[in-house]
Amino acid sequence: MGDIAHDEVSFYSNAEDYWKEVPATVDGMLGGYGSISIIDINGSKDFLRKFLGEGEGKTGTRCALDCGAGIGRITKRLLLPLFSTVDLVDVTQEFLDKAKIHLGEDSKRVGNYFCSGLQDFAPENGHYDVIWIQWVIGHLTDEHLVKFLQRCQKALRPNGLIVIKDNVSYEGVVPDEVDSSICRDLAIVRSLVAKAGLRIIHEEQQMNFPKEIYQVHTLALR
Ligand code: SAH
Repeated sequence: MGDIAHDEVSFYSNAEDYWKEVPATVDGMLGGYGSISIIDINGSKDFLRKFLGEGEGKTGTRCALDCGAGIGRITKRLLLPLFSTVDLVDVTQEFLDKAKIHLGEDSKRVGNYFCSGLQDFAPENGHYDVIWIQWVIGHLTDEHLVKFLQRCQKALRPNGLIVIKDNVSYEGVVPDEVDSSICRDLAIVRSLVAKAGLRIIHEEQQMNFPKEIYQVHTLALR
């Protein structure tokens, strides 16, 4: 096996090993910043509400997919309140097990808990109104991210939307050896989105996050 292939294998397996040791809590999901969850969710609600509804061209509210869902922090506070049913996908089985508990009564409206790396996951064609991808793209290589976005595009229902919400670096690609991820700048993220054949229809920066963390941007794609 060549070096690149080997590096790629360890990029993914080191991340899996890292997340297995992280507590299955909101604080664990947010690297100790559990306190920003409400600000994050409220920002996402305002963002998503611009697109959802009944009229011509509006995005439906039947089914959403939470990618890199963890314990279902976003499913619980953002997606289940807005969509009839939600599926979760995450590479860490322990988090999905916890999600069933974390979601409580509302877990009845969860369709599926898929345990898979996004690099290996193919969402069902024509199935989702919204595919939400938050704080996980840094765990995919460029090539895998582009291909995953292409599979997501096929998985959308009419007027469906893919949303990426993630950290962006000031410039270039910044590796994180601890959780085996990378942080890309906005120009790189935009170019990978374009490479996937997707169009950015709206973009916002999440406001009111602590100054010491990365800027977080939200992109609506289709
Ligand atoms: N999006 C959630 C969780 C963020 S933490 C939230 O905002 O609350 C990052 C999550 O990505 C963890 O649950 C981890 O298990 C998952 N993850 C890491 N690498 C992944 C991969 N390659 N495919 C799918 N999920 C992955």
